[in-house]
Amino acid sequence: MNASIVLDRDGVINQDRDDYVRSVDDWLPLPGSIAAMAALSKAGWSLFVATNQSGIARGYYDLAELAAMHDKMRALVRAEGGDVADVVFCPHGPDADCPCRKPRPGLIDQLIARHGSLQGAYMVGDSLRDLQAGAARGLRPVLVLTGKGAITQSQLATQAWSEPPLVYADLAAFARALLTQASS
Ligand SMILES: [Mg+2]
Ligand SMILES: [Zn+2]
Repeated sequence: MNASIVLDRDGVINQDRDDYVRSVDDWLPLPGSIAAMAALSKAGWSLFVATNQSGIARGYYDLAELAAMHDKMRALVRAEGGDVADVVFCPHGPDADCPCRKPRPGLIDQLIARHGSLQGAYMVGDSLRDLQAGAARGLRPVLVLTGKGAITQSQLATQAWSEPPLVYADLAAFARALLTQASS
């Protein structure tokens, strides 16, 4: 088993916004998400974040603000005794034809290059493109119903999956399920 979990960010860890999460102050954790990450980390799971951030290309915020958001996220997890192993992001817009914007698997490839195989790891997202990017590299898809997840759930059947996505109410529920498995 691969004890790694790749998380989408907006709509999974923090509240998504239709007008983009543009600042540290906009970056607000979803209920229970930070505690869930800390608990998973303390139980031995390696946590990675892979996030599309086209707001960079659109000029809504800059790399320094994005780094500050991620510093905030990592500090919150650390304050509860956990750790985020790495954060990768796509700064490009949808028309850039880059290899890293999900559903393409370039962000997953960056993580594999730095940390080794993610075959069998979990990919947690609230959008189809998150699950597709992970599935392209053998990650097991997990849909959470926060963020865009409820809409995405109605679209799951439109896609072919090598492994059907697991569905949880939120990241905290997924973490509880994993941690209960591990202790039983
Ligand atoms: Mg998302
Ligand atoms: Zn990109």
